[in-house]
Amino acid sequence: MAAGIWFKGDLRLTDNPAVTAALGERADELPVHALYLAAAGQWQRHDWAPIKVDLLWRHLECFRQNAAERGVLLHIVVIDTWKEAPRAVLQFCQQYDIDALHFNREYPVDEQRRDRAVAAWLAEHDISCQGYHGLLLVPPVLEPSTENAYYQKFTPFNRAWREHLTLSGIPAPEAMPKLDCRSQLPDMPECPHERRDSSAWQVGEDAAQQQLQTFIDEQVACYHEDRDNPALDNTSRLSPYWELGILSPVTAARKLQQLSPDFPHGLNKGADTWLTELAWREFYQHLMHHIPRLSYKKAFKQHTDDFPWRDSDEDFERWCEGRTGYPIVDAGMRQLAAEGWMHNRLRMIVANFLVKDLRLDWRRGEQFFMQHLIDGSFPANNGGWQWSASTGTDAVPYFRVFNPTRQSEKIDPDGSYIRKWVSELKDCPTKCIHAPESWLRTQPDNDYPAPMVDHSEAREKFLAAFKQL
Ligand code: FAD
Repeated sequence: MAAGIWFKGDLRLTDNPAVTAALGERADELPVHALYLAAAGQWQRHDWAPIKVDLLWRHLECFRQNAAERGVLLHIVVIDTWKEAPRAVLQFCQQYDIDALHFNREYPVDEQRRDRAVAAWLAEHDISCQGYHGLLLVPPVLEPSTENAYYQKFTPFNRAWREHLTLSGIPAPEAMPKLDCRSQLPDMPECPHERRDSSAWQVGEDAAQQQLQTFIDEQVACYHEDRDNPALDNTSRLSPYWELGILSPVTAARKLQQLSPDFPHGLNKGADTWLTELAWREFYQHLMHHIPRLSYKKAFKQHTDDFPWRDSDEDFERWCEGRTGYPIVDAGMRQLAAEGWMHNRLRMIVANFLVKDLRLDWRRGEQFFMQHLIDGSFPANNGGWQWSASTGTDAVPYFRVFNPTRQSEKIDPDGSYIRKWVSELKDCPTKCIHAPESWLRTQPDNDYPAPMVDHSEAREKFLAAFKQL
């Protein structure tokens, strides 16, 4: 009998507890067989973007080769939804004589349910199943000392999270065996889902780790100053790699540790700010783990589910297409359409605009983001939308309504980000770029639209409706 691995959103060998356990358990019985379930119907149901699927598939092609050089033979099995997972996993275990299966846990409800169903089904067939918390630096088991079973506010969560890191430390990297079994690799199936070219993003663990190293060496020290300037584009752009599990946050923490022996304390301002962003990522996973209703399109603040959202497909389309007449909003939406990625500050601005200026339901924006983002992550996306809509835990207060023009002046003072993405405004002088109406009156052939709403009026209407709740 043998040990096996079930890969999910943890498609790496480095800092992967399920891999370490499976290889360690039967070190003399290589190769280890591993499974990945390509659940196209589930991806559809969860609105996976074609560009994210393309990145996944390109990575799988590369990863299975690299894994096979390390004694891990990856089998990719196409199924429809998670309902088929227990049968598919059992069949895999029986085919390769596996009596102990190792995997990392995922936290949204469907995935938790899938893992329980698989474990129960395997147990009936005398196959043991061991789950690990391999997706996060700190497992979502942090419990505050009050009667609440989980942290509802980021600040105390962040404190406890760092405390946990201080006590637990960062595990040392595991040595991987060398055994080239590429000749035994099964054929790669056809991708069962629509794809959109993601070749601007590299694939493979080595490439992701190199990108992390370059960011730590060259950018992280200035992160606290540069991160809100979208034209500088100085954030790590690692989000798609965490989402597919190509990179582990443990690997990132180990690199930060090299900057400060007292890690997580003693980091320079930039690195410390960046570590806090990793904590936000884990906070939203923590909430998913503890609050099932978040997985059912419900607001964290339940009374906000009664908000009288407007129902205008036309306005929604204009937002999606980046034709709102607010240049900074349109630039963000056009970056998303072109790259499948958007700078964090822009995500906040366009989300705020959809919800508070247009009064359209945040769930429409959440879904559109998932359908287009290469890093679409249910916990981070849901958390980001509920934060922006003031419906989430620890969200921005409802009365804080971003003024898109002021935001634009602040984060893109010379308009270079706007000019990059809104071609109609490429010749617009800087003094008009944030509110180009007067300049447009001198450009009769320019069809860039006038603002679709008056921000001050929209703000008042939103505040009045929210107060009614
Ligand atoms: P960096 O600035 O380098 O940050 C490092 C890492 O920290 C990121 O890769 C990410 O994993 C994490 N992180 C940073 N900011 C946040 C945040 N606010 N919340 C949670 N994690 C964070 N992030 C996603 O990964 N997937 C999403 O689908 C997603 N949707 C979002 C939707 C909205 C409305 C908002 C406001 C934010 C969303 N975010 C999402 C968070 C954030 O915008 C992205 O993680 C970030 O822009 C990715 O760029 P980066 O890798 O260069 O980040």
